[in-house]
Amino acid sequence: MTDRVRCYDCGNDYELGEQAHCTCGETLWLETDVGDFEWPGGGIDDSWRYADVLPTVERVGVEPGGTPLVRAERVDAFAGCQVSLKVEGCNPTGSFKDRGSAVGVGYAARAGYDWVGTVSHGNMALSTSAYAAAAGLECAVFVPSETPPERLELIARHDPHVFRVEGDYGQLYADTLSLEADVAFVNSDTPLRVAGQKTTAYEILEAFAPSVPDAIVLPTSSGGHASGVWKGLRELERAGLIDEVPRIYVAQAAPCDPIATAYREGRGTVTAVDADETIAVSIANSDPPSGTRALRAVRETGGGAVSVTDDETRAAMAELATTAGISVEPSSAVALAGVRKLSRDGELAADDEVVTILTGSGYTERLQTDVGQRTRTIDLADLETELDAIVGE
Ligand SMILES: *Cc1c(COP(=O)(O)O)cnc(C)c1O
Ligand SMILES: [Zn+2]
Repeated sequence: MTDRVRCYDCGNDYELGEQAHCTCGETLWLETDVGDFEWPGGGIDDSWRYADVLPTVERVGVEPGGTPLVRAERVDAFAGCQVSLKVEGCNPTGSFKDRGSAVGVGYAARAGYDWVGTVSHGNMALSTSAYAAAAGLECAVFVPSETPPERLELIARHDPHVFRVEGDYGQLYADTLSLEADVAFVNSDTPLRVAGQKTTAYEILEAFAPSVPDAIVLPTSSGGHASGVWKGLRELERAGLIDEVPRIYVAQAAPCDPIATAYREGRGTVTAVDADETIAVSIANSDPPSGTRALRAVRETGGGAVSVTDDETRAAMAELATTAGISVEPSSAVALAGVRKLSRDGELAADDEVVTILTGSGYTERLQTDVGQRTRTIDLADLETELDAIVGE
């Protein structure tokens, strides 16, 4: 039996891999028979606990998921609501991308492919390379030519073939999906990746069960993760495990916010924007392949789309590091900055339970060489006086 994919918009269905998009132009996701799916129960160990509602794959690499969900009361004042943090930086390569890579690469391994590929700004390349290495598959990663060497070095440790591509990123993304080469591409909104990434929602809702959070806020670029979260919530509703669907909010960086722009303008489809530079490099997709599906997700769940300035992102990043003890990359901090803004705008209420998805770790990226105001060099002989001076301050 082959896996089927369906267009979320018009409902047409196809065999997985038959075509990259629906004939209507919209995106496809895997059909999932939730049957009589029940919460597995016990501790949330890793995302394979949901294997019954995932495509059949070879399990390769380190188990993804099972990430902490922290009720971060000390962040409530900043956030303006009751905030819980889903710490995706705890995944094997430091981002939620591992959920999708494990499914996409595992599927390719089971199907007998020798090669997998991806198009990425960094985290997905890192993740796909790691899972390909574990599966014994060759890996081709295509990154924008301006990707900094620090990021490439992290990726290169897993020994993929790295292509630095000069040219339009959106075009590159689309072109790889229509190549004749015998390479299984697991790009950011492909059905297998979206299937894997729906497990973020499964884990959040299982942790809350039998209750349901009011809202889920996540930083969004291609719209693949938001699509996965929406797919997960729809399935859980169908399985009768939740009777209310949390509102989905997508957060974007103001310099590059095509989804939030379409939302503000009341449009039904997302189109490419002219983007400026942002510190949130992992979510800087000006022409998101699943943007329209993400827009639909926020509209159908009663959520919304918000954009934040880089300064607001920096403030959220500092808040997380100094108040919750969590280091995230700027793209993840966009989610908390978005929550703060939504609270100020009255979209989120003070007693709303809001899950903020911190998509990636801050430890895989060095932003600056500034060692901070509280770092000082002292002489060993002055140890006691130096410490006394500070402790007594
Ligand atoms: C990829 C990524 C995102 C955006 O996910 P999409 O599925 O492309 O919308 C957000 N944050 C981080 C850290 C990422 O790596
Ligand atoms: Zn369609």
